[in-house]
Amino acid sequence: MQDSPFSILYVSPQAPDPSSHLLKQWGGDLWRAQSTLEGMSILKSLLPDIAILDTALPSHGWEELATVIKGREPDIPVILTGLSPNEQDLMAGMRAGADLFLKQPLCGEEMRRELVPLARRAAQIRSNRLRHSTAAAILDATPAPMLITDGQIVDYMNRPMMELANLGTTLKPRSCAEVEQTLPLVRLHTVDDHSAFARWVSVLMGDPQSEYLVRAGHNQNCDKTFLLRSMPLAGLRGRQSISFTDVTSIENEKRMYHRLATTDPLTGVCNRRKFMDELDLELTRAGRYGNPLSLIMIDIDDFKSVNDTQGHQAGDVALVELACLLKDNIRSMDLLARYGGEEFALIIPETDLEGASYVASKLCRLVDSTQFAIVPEMTCSLGVASFQKEDSVHSLIERADQALYKAKAKGKNQACKLEQASSQGRS
Ligand code: GH3
Ligand code: MG
Ligand code: MG
Repeated sequence: MQDSPFSILYVSPQAPDPSSHLLKQWGGDLWRAQSTLEGMSILKSLLPDIAILDTALPSHGWEELATVIKGREPDIPVILTGLSPNEQDLMAGMRAGADLFLKQPLCGEEMRRELVPLARRAAQIRSNRLRHSTAAAILDATPAPMLITDGQIVDYMNRPMMELANLGTTLKPRSCAEVEQTLPLVRLHTVDDHSAFARWVSVLMGDPQSEYLVRAGHNQNCDKTFLLRSMPLAGLRGRQSISFTDVTSIENEKRMYHRLATTDPLTGVCNRRKFMDELDLELTRAGRYGNPLSLIMIDIDDFKSVNDTQGHQAGDVALVELACLLKDNIRSMDLLARYGGEEFALIIPETDLEGASYVASKLCRLVDSTQFAIVPEMTCSLGVASFQKEDSVHSLIERADQALYKAKAKGKNQACKLEQASSQGRS
């Protein structure tokens, strides 16, 4: 390992100075001053790694210099030197924090042996301290909250992390268990919530490649979304950094685009694309677990005349009114979509043909009995079909369509089902 460079402040009234050439041989920078004033002026802008002060400086100037140096950096070794130390000087030197007294004349070899290791160690301590405070300043300026932990004890926490966890700004050793009391975390896109921070830390440390989307915040709303990651730290064995990258705006944008891609802009219910995806998913589930699944197609009766008599905009409002009524009268697990034009589709999972027919009749009566603002007497026809083995999305829609056609043919404003046996082609 290479030795750290170091600097020596040597303040002595002696001129010519017999020991300067020895000090220079140490390999450090030598800052030479012959008076207390000169020494003070150097200290205004520079701090040495070691100071050698001559007790021959008038008016105990060396004491003043030692006090200034130790006051600014207690780790800097201060060496007093003089012809013969008197007890008073030694006591004053100790009070000022001096570390050593070397009797003059200074011996080059003795100085090298005694002082060089002190100077190098002091230089190393200061350089480490500088690196540490620089790293802390950089991490504090980083917007991402982060902490360093061995899984239990938190060694370091940057300022944004303290703010996120609402822990105040006084830096003191903390534990993951303490952080967890003020920082609730809720995992996104899953029902499994590791809400305890200490548990999150052990999950992350066990699999450093992993990353999780969590909602976090010290208020109860957990109003921010973060990407939670951990990273082993080279040189800090057993410790990892846990960082929170704020992805709230990206997540909100993602949610907005997802909503745009899956919602019918006029009525606010699901659009046809979302309907097809969900039906596909439900069919797979029903096929795998043998659960019942039904589909109801809903078509407004004689809607063309609404547009013809009251205009297209009035027709639009009537569509919104119907969508709201239907949405308010289905279960949360059912999915209502605008299939196209004045036709809606309703996926009802966990429900067989009989159950779905009951739902369809109920909705039909509800529409019939509702006084809508635009078309008070609006009615609709409904076609019901249920999942059969080997069904595809298209075959199930086809059968619900056939049932709807039946309802129209039988005089509209009613619900018809397609019996399982008669499920071949459009009649
Ligand atoms: P039926 O009872 O047989 O279903 O007759 P219908 O008039 O409802 O059916 P048809 O298929 O003849 O006409 C559907 C009408 O729905 C035609 C079209 O003007 C209207 N329509 C479709 N989409 C929209 C829409 O987004 N807004 C409005 N205002 N009207 C729409
Ligand atoms: Mg119609
Ligand atoms: Mg239609």
